[in-house]
Amino acid sequence: MTIICPCNSTKNYPDCCQLFHDGTHFPITAEALMRSRYSAYVLQNADYLLATWHKNTRPKQLDFSQDNTTWQKLEILHTKKGGEKDEKGRVEFNAFYVQDGETRLMHEISRFKKVAGRWFYVDGVLD
Ligand SMILES: [Zn+2]
Repeated sequence: MTIICPCNSTKNYPDCCQLFHDGTHFPITAEALMRSRYSAYVLQNADYLLATWHKNTRPKQLDFSQDNTTWQKLEILHTKKGGEKDEKGRVEFNAFYVQDGETRLMHEISRFKKVAGRWFYVDGVLD
């Protein structure tokens, strides 16, 4: 059974974020990394999240065992730089999730940086 990718790209997971999660491909743009990280949250893939986190801001570990968040939808609102030839980028997004029976919205502007040709997540500003 093929599943639609959790990042809302309308592609099948094996043709979309799974390529990055498997480590066979690396996202070319900051937005693609952002999408693959969102999918990794949906799938609770802590290894991928840590591997794509900039070393200066990366947490020591991610523990999903107590997590009761159900991610529902990702909406990319705006991107600034973050293209193939850029070294930095920003992605503004809405992520909808259900926690404790309530639907909530997370709005964030994430910052990304390229290190040795690969994109990493640095940090995000919530509002
Ligand atoms: Zn995807």
